[in-house]
Amino acid sequence: MAVLVTGGAGYIGSHMVWELLDKGEEVVVLDRLSTGFDWAVPDAAELVVGDIGDQDLVREVLRSRKIDAIIHFAGSIVVPESVSDPLGYYLNNTVKSRALIECAIECGVPHFIFSSTAAVYGTPVQIPVKEDAGLQPESPYGTSKMMTELMLRDTAAAHNFAYAALRYFNVAGADPQMRTGQSSKGATHLIKVACEAATGKRPFMEVYGTDYPTPDGTCIRDYIHVSDLVAAHYLALGHLRAGKGSIVANCGYGNGASVHEVIAAVKKVSGKDFEVRVSTRRPGDAVAIVANADRCRETFGWQPRHDDLEEIVAHALGWEERLSQRNR
Ligand code: UDP
Repeated sequence: MAVLVTGGAGYIGSHMVWELLDKGEEVVVLDRLSTGFDWAVPDAAELVVGDIGDQDLVREVLRSRKIDAIIHFAGSIVVPESVSDPLGYYLNNTVKSRALIECAIECGVPHFIFSSTAAVYGTPVQIPVKEDAGLQPESPYGTSKMMTELMLRDTAAAHNFAYAALRYFNVAGADPQMRTGQSSKGATHLIKVACEAATGKRPFMEVYGTDYPTPDGTCIRDYIHVSDLVAAHYLALGHLRAGKGSIVANCGYGNGASVHEVIAAVKKVSGKDFEVRVSTRRPGDAVAIVANADRCRETFGWQPRHDDLEEIVAHALGWEERLSQRNR
C-alpha cells in the first residue's frame, strides 16, 4: 500500500511527502518538474517524472505500486496568471484532474485528497467563511478548482470512492527542520516576495492596492503554516481510510492579516527595512478571505501548531536564506 502524491516536487507537495514519510507511509511522487525540483523529493520517496494527464503512465503507477490514496497537488496556482491564461488553467487544473480521477476509478483507488482553495468562495459575503457558503470564484483559478470539486462530488456519488477537498487559505512558511520550503522562481505570493526583498533578492516590493474597504486599505488573508496544512491532509487521509466518507473542509486559522501587517512582520523578523512601493490593484484579488476552520478541527481533531504570523515568516525567511546559499 502506498500513497501517490502528485506535484510532490513542489512547495506544498514536498512538505506532504515529508509528513507521510515521517508517519511511516510508502510514498510515490508523480511530478513533471515544470515548477518543482527533483532535489525537493526526499530519497525515501520514489519519484516518477511525468504528467498527471498521461493516463497510461498514471494507470501503470497506480497498479504497479498498489496505491490506495492519491493526494493531488499538481496544478497551476497563480491567480493573476489565470486571468491572462484561463484555458491553460482549465487544462492543468480541471481537464487533467478529470483524467487523474478517471484513472483512480478505473484502477480502484478508493481515496482521493484534493488541493482546493479559498478562491472558490470569491469575496465571501460573511467572514469567517464556512464551507457551506456559496461558491462565487472571481478568477479562472478559483473556477478551475471549483469544477474539480464538483467532479469529485459527482464521482463519489456514483462509485466506491471517497474524497477530501481541502480549501487552502494562504499557505506560507517552511518545514521547521528546513528540509524543504518554497523554492519556485518568479514567486508572486506575498510572504515569499517580502522574504525575497528582505534577503536582497529584489530591490523593492509592491503593495497591490491600498484603497480596499479594510482598516488599512490593503487586502486581508488568512495565512496558514504549510506544516499545519499538511498535517490536516494526513488527518484527512485517516478519515477516508476509516471509511468516514467524503468531506470538504477549510484549511486556515480563522485569523486575518493585511498586506501591510505581513510586510511589517517580515521587516520585524528579518530586521531589514526594504523599499515598499504602493501600486494599483491586481486583477482577480478578493478584498478579504478568512476561514472558519471549525470543521477541520472538529472532524479531524486538527490542532494547529504554528498559528503565529511571525513564526510563519521566520520559517519562510530561514528557507529563503538556505536557498541563497544553495544558489550561490
Ligand atoms: N500582494 C501584494 N504584493 C505582492 C504580492 C501579493 O500586495 O508582491 C497582495 C495581493 O494583492 C493579495 C495578497 O497580497 O492582496 C495575497 O496575495 P498572494 O498572491 O500571496 O495570494 P492570493 O491570496 O492571491 O492567493
